[in-house]
Amino acid sequence: MTVEGYEVHITPSIGISKYPEHGSTLEDLMKDADAAMYLSKENGKNGYSFFNVELSEEKSRKMMIENALKKAVQKNQFVLYYQPKVELRTNKIIGMEALLRWQHPELGWISPVEFIPVAEETGQIVSIGEWVLEEACRQNKQWQDAGYSPLNVSVNVSVLQFKHGKFLETVQQVLDKTALDTQYLELEITESIMQNIKESKKILESLQQLGIKISIDDFGTGYSSLHVLQKLPIDTLKIDKSFVDELDLDASNTMVKAIIDLGLNLNMTLVAEGIESENQMRVLIEHGCTIGQGYLFSKPVAPEDFEELMKVTELLKGKIAQSNMR
Ligand code: C2E
Ligand code: MG
Ligand code: MG
Repeated sequence: MTVEGYEVHITPSIGISKYPEHGSTLEDLMKDADAAMYLSKENGKNGYSFFNVELSEEKSRKMMIENALKKAVQKNQFVLYYQPKVELRTNKIIGMEALLRWQHPELGWISPVEFIPVAEETGQIVSIGEWVLEEACRQNKQWQDAGYSPLNVSVNVSVLQFKHGKFLETVQQVLDKTALDTQYLELEITESIMQNIKESKKILESLQQLGIKISIDDFGTGYSSLHVLQKLPIDTLKIDKSFVDELDLDASNTMVKAIIDLGLNLNMTLVAEGIESENQMRVLIEHGCTIGQGYLFSKPVAPEDFEELMKVTELLKGKIAQSNMR
């Protein structure tokens, strides 16, 4: 059809549920039809899909997770794992990323890739995120008090937490409560914050004034406007794993080089995510990236295991200091 002189094409994506097989109430049937509609969209749009057994299983698992999540904080089912961030040339640990782990008594270990989106959909991410922030700051301060060299802890923040009116206040309260110096906290946000740029800019600037660092996680996979990027107080770009993976196929990968140059020119720190091979590490160093994370150095580990990793770094440092004295 034509709207105000422009030609507009519309295609339908249809989801179908059947009574009584898929549900007995209008609400249930509509929900199932809705899930089936998303399947049509996934399958390339412009078509129809019936609600089916797989969708039904997916739906019941999601409902189980949604219900179990409500009690997870209170029942102490969450643990934070830590993955070291290392200086690529020396393998020295310079910080760590806190990654949430959930062990449910019946469902077992559930991946954040599965439960974070559910927590976001239901709004539970706000209280879960608060727990994560406090636990990461508390742990980091405890390690500093125990005598380890101070490290930066990075905490992942969902855009929903960020948009929640009380975010700044929460961060401030957590820092006060845990007594962690603000310079040792870094927040990881994704490019999706750029959708609401005016508001995001204000919050980011306030966080910067507190002395907190900001990273853009999974950089290169979202919708960053380069124009906006240069106006925001961003300290670090984390190069998404998908780009690092490509270095194995094509070492001179121009996209990785372009991201590194972009970040360096904007005076940002670059961190490569998901480094798994020596080869990837070598090429990243050649391209000018100095910091990385990945299984090559260590998987995310439980706090007690992270402490062992820190001890190795402290020992190395001791050795370096000794050899300097000789
Ligand atoms: P992310 O923040 O980009 O974290 C990196 C993910 O890559 C982690 O997965 C980490 O375990 C994994 N990874 C690190 N190095 C390697 C590697 O060399 N190879 C491979 N194959 N994977 C590697 P994880 O822990 O499953 O977390 C997945 C995502 O869930 C995170 O991606 C983050 O977006 C989200 N997430 C985790 N914890 C939290 C949290 O506390 N709050 C929020 N909002 N999101 C979180
Ligand atoms: Mg992250
Ligand atoms: Mg990432």
